Amino acid sequence: MKNVLVVGAGGVGAVAVVKMAMHPEIFQDITLASRTLSKCDEIAANVKTRTGVEIKTAQIDAMDVAATAALIRETGAELVVNLALPYQDLALMDACLEAGVHYLDTANYEPEDDAKFEYHWQWAYQDRFKKAGLTAILGSGFDPGVTSIFATWIRKHKLDGIRLIDVLDCNGGDNGKPFATNFNPEINIREVTAVARHWENGDWVETPAMTRKVAFDFPAVGEKNMYLMYHEELESLKTHFPEVERARFWMTFGDAYINHVTVLQNIGMTRIDPVVYEGKEIIPLQFLKAVLPDPSDLGALTKGKTCIGDIITGPSGDAEKTYYIYNICDHEECYAEVGSQAVAYTTGVPAMIGAAMMMKGIWLDPGVWNTEQLDPDAFMEMLNTDGLPWQVVELDGHPVF
Ligand code: NDP
Repeated sequence: MKNVLVVGAGGVGAVAVVKMAMHPEIFQDITLASRTLSKCDEIAANVKTRTGVEIKTAQIDAMDVAATAALIRETGAELVVNLALPYQDLALMDACLEAGVHYLDTANYEPEDDAKFEYHWQWAYQDRFKKAGLTAILGSGFDPGVTSIFATWIRKHKLDGIRLIDVLDCNGGDNGKPFATNFNPEINIREVTAVARHWENGDWVETPAMTRKVAFDFPAVGEKNMYLMYHEELESLKTHFPEVERARFWMTFGDAYINHVTVLQNIGMTRIDPVVYEGKEIIPLQFLKAVLPDPSDLGALTKGKTCIGDIITGPSGDAEKTYYIYNICDHEECYAEVGSQAVAYTTGVPAMIGAAMMMKGIWLDPGVWNTEQLDPDAFMEMLNTDGLPWQVVELDGHPVF
């Protein structure tokens, strides 16, 4: 495979195509398509400046399956990398099946009117992709994505199974704005305002959103408050690692972020059901997104580091061991390299690496796969060489929190 079509000219898409262009031996022909052509052209100019590579651009509404299938055929793409929004996942999977090409994304499908974060819609494509001899890789960002691959790597090389897993996502960066989200505000706010759920002893345990707070001392960042949240990879991890006793997801937020979200929620601005305003239906959260800073404009302003990883405990021979495996990423270094902040970088790079795994034929079994189901080794090597080096340390038991 040589030819890729990337859909979505946002923060993540902007990073992924620069990193793809840095590997002309893998990605020989790159097209970036999105709803707004001018955004694709701006990104193409950035790719040319930084790498000397010319990429093609196109306008597409990814909800239009026939038009997308026609674009896939016209470009000759063999793989579609979906870096648009979760709402487009099923339409893009349909277009891939129609045009007979492979698929990869970074976030699970969501209906616009229901923030459910469930995989069943996409898992239902298993037979169709298998029958067509095509591969769909779901969730090849950082979380989901790298954190699930970290777990598979630990299970393959360090432990005989996973008993406890905590995914810890820390953004220690500061963009100087009173309130701005690091990736698409609509998706980000839908995630943080959802009821927190974690998996424990064979059941989901629910906690009201943003109520369980723990201080944790993150490597290279220092102490931050992290909050228990639901995140989509918990569903696939507990399904694909059936031995897991407890799986939780934590994300750090500063007090100012929490205060803003609380006020916005209390006054109804995070609602995703339509309200009538001057005779026209609007979705308050979509309106809010329109007035908040665009995360792709935050690159030049953001300073500090991210630290994202897993703490995993499980059996190892007769003993039980605990490992902390993580990556540290610096916002300013990311900006210097590709022109984006670390949250877009830590998602765009794994999307590029996942696509490279497919282009090289390493991850190409027909069917629909989450990243923890795939062999982690080649992906883990490329993280080290392509900007997201990782470290693994043994801890003295699973931290109690
Ligand atoms: P942005 O909002 O910055 O970019 C999304 C892009 O998709 C925009 O360019 C938008 O177009 C385009 N788009 C939206 N609808 C359509 C459509 N119908 N047809 C074609 N293009 C469309 O989002 P991000 O870059 O921040 O995020 C991209 C994806 O990555 C999201 O799915 C997000 O959930 C996921 N993500 C995953 C993470 C992980 O670690 N796994 C972490 C962070 C994000 P327009 O410019 O016209 O609005």
